[in-house]
Amino acid sequence: MFYHSKELQFKARVSKPDPRFARLLLEQFGGGNGELKAAMQYFVQAFACHNPYPDKYDLLMDIATEELGHLEIVGATIQMLLAGVNGNLKDAAEQNDVFGEKTFSKDDFIHTAFSVNPQFGTVTGGGPCLTDSNGAPWQGSYVNANGDLTVDLRSNIAAESRAKIVYEYLMQFTDDKDVLATLNFLLTREVAHFQQFEAALDTIRPNFPPGVLQSDPRYSNIYSNHSMGDEARGPWNEGRSPGLDEEWLYVEDPGRQVAETDGLTQLRPQGTSRTEASVRSADRKLSKERSREIRRATPESNLEWCEYSAEREKKKGGASRTRRQPVEQM
Ligand code: MN
Ligand code: MN
Repeated sequence: MFYHSKELQFKARVSKPDPRFARLLLEQFGGGNGELKAAMQYFVQAFACHNPYPDKYDLLMDIATEELGHLEIVGATIQMLLAGVNGNLKDAAEQNDVFGEKTFSKDDFIHTAFSVNPQFGTVTGGGPCLTDSNGAPWQGSYVNANGDLTVDLRSNIAAESRAKIVYEYLMQFTDDKDVLATLNFLLTREVAHFQQFEAALDTIRPNFPPGVLQSDPRYSNIYSNHSMGDEARGPWNEGRSPGLDEEWLYVEDPGRQVAETDGLTQLRPQGTSRTEASVRSADRKLSKERSREIRRATPESNLEWCEYSAEREKKKGGASRTRRQPVEQM
């Protein structure tokens, strides 16, 4: 269950209303790289971890919940940036300025609707809405959860990178010191989360390639030169590959290679110590291991999600009584 604390995680402040920036900031409220996406992504991923990987369940739920707190900070900031709008709109009988200042009358609103987000005036009455800065509604397909921590944690590292860069861009569009302080805090937390997910991924061994199957050693170290013109060389196509530690094989003419190898089916592994047999055996070993980890933690009938504290106490009490018994007999 959840509790709500009325205190924000960070002291959000706004020195003066700015409906234009409120619209830009919607990107982190209901946008594809925003706080609700982050919260829902880690929340949804956490379910699969609950039994087999309680340490990762704890991590995902801690960060998911912190992200909900960030959503609240962003929403509160948008509301403050739109201060006065709702009150002015409620003065329905009079044709007052909507956005408080003389510089932002109802007339201006109509003419600058493209920079002010018309929905602030026509739908939300001067508050946030779950859309991005262009008004596209938030959607569940922003959330990536694939039931495998070696995949999900990588999705999260990517999500944190994108959330961070959006804050970085947003900071260039306001000079309000109070708003900048909030954005700086939110940006920094994404940097913290990036590292937390990275460290968690590192505790899973092996974690590459993502998932279980180890991949085919005939194709894993081929760099295919598919574009014509100037060619660039770097650690992505020369030297050793970072994940599997194989030698990169630069294929100058992929068309010729395909023709000569009957569509790559006649290729033999090269530049790698992996063989088809070693891969098959690693596949079987890791399949058993991962499947056992999850199945051992997941009963197939009489399932319960959690234990309550009274139940836990009772068990603990029982255990300590049996521990005490021999002492009493002595
Ligand atoms: Mn966040
Ligand atoms: Mn984050």
